[in-house]
Amino acid sequence: MEKEKKSERESEEMKKKVCKRCKESFSPSSNTRSSCRFHPSFFVCRRHDDQKRYYELGPNDPPYSAKFYDCCGAEDPQASGCTTSSHVSYDDDD
Ligand SMILES: [Zn+2]
Ligand SMILES: [Zn+2]
Repeated sequence: MEKEKKSERESEEMKKKVCKRCKESFSPSSNTRSSCRFHPSFFVCRRHDDQKRYYELGPNDPPYSAKFYDCCGAEDPQASGCTTSSHVSYDDDD
């Protein structure tokens, strides 16, 4: 009996997958359309004055280099994703 239980738990662990977008482990059974928060674009580095579609530079703002997500303009690399979807494992075709 003990042995059976253990192998059951192990196979449950085996089903855990790692999301290639957010790098979190998840179980496919609890993977929903809102499980994964991520940025669809890359974290980029470019000058603020190339960023006008996110906000207008004021006359006193220095045009220093900014790092931000190209999708939403978030400047914090740790900023939580602007898009939610289901997790994508490395096994799945994207
Ligand atoms: Zn984003
Ligand atoms: Zn994910």
